[in-house]
Amino acid sequence: MAGILFIISAPSGSGKSTLVSEVRKQLTGIDFSISWTTRTPRGSEQHGRQYYFTTRAEFEKMRDAGEFLEYAEVFGNYYGTSRRSLEEATAAGRDLLLDIDVQGAAQVRKVCPQSVSIFVLPPNPKVLRTRLRNRSRAEGQINEAVLYLRLSEASSEIEKYRDYDYILVNDVLDRAVAQLEAIIQSERYYRCGQEIPIKASRVLEIAAACRLANSRERLQPVLESFGILNPSGQQLLKFEEDSDDD
Ligand code: ADP
Ligand code: 5GP
Repeated sequence: MAGILFIISAPSGSGKSTLVSEVRKQLTGIDFSISWTTRTPRGSEQHGRQYYFTTRAEFEKMRDAGEFLEYAEVFGNYYGTSRRSLEEATAAGRDLLLDIDVQGAAQVRKVCPQSVSIFVLPPNPKVLRTRLRNRSRAEGQINEAVLYLRLSEASSEIEKYRDYDYILVNDVLDRAVAQLEAIIQSERYYRCGQEIPIKASRVLEIAAACRLANSRERLQPVLESFGILNPSGQQLLKFEEDSDDD
């Protein structure tokens, strides 16, 4: 049976990489796609571990040769997922997790409509700023222009939350890790074609609470803090307008 393709997106600094690395320690049977990027390595990042680092010219050559499943320009650099990652995971029947931005997620949804997408939110802009700053400090390079760019893009990325199947608010790390694990496990149960065991009920419950349609209360304060407004200037959860079928 083919594995499940999971997509995870978040504004930079929300804690997505942290969540993914915690979940990788706990779950087996899931591969993590290493993207190609033209940005320079940060801190202790190594070629072939967090990313394959390359030049713009090489990236464009790969793009023109059709080597990417998706790619996008994010914060002034190219990022892309090689088709090979998906082909290898599919051939091995393993699940695959893509950590990609909202533009890449939209491209993957088109070609892989069976994929499962998860959007991670920070609790509010202040926490996001602190996390971005702490990470930069830990990496020994606080670049105010880079921090500003990443923070200023956060709201427009967050506006895409309603395109995702599941929403996580990464406030308390352990809870968010448990939620991400529950989402992955519950999708496995749903798709394995066998009767779901009673012992899985807690996992299914945790995952169900993270579904977009069930996230309204948790999301409201987060969206308000990021100033995501409707056209008349009122705070509004966008799925109220158009999600009768959810
Ligand atoms: P992203 O991959 O979304 O850009 P990171 O995983 O690099 O974000 O996390 C950004 C910073 O926030 C890191 O310093 C990380 O240790 C910290 N962090 C992540 N999740 C939490 C959390 N729940 N509580 C406190 N700090 C967190
Ligand atoms: P960072 O520079 O912080 O590692 O990543 C910046 C942004 O690029 C994040 O939103 C991350 O999810 C996104 N990103 C990383 N790899 C890819 C990729 O292969 N494709 C796309 N579209 N975005 C990616």
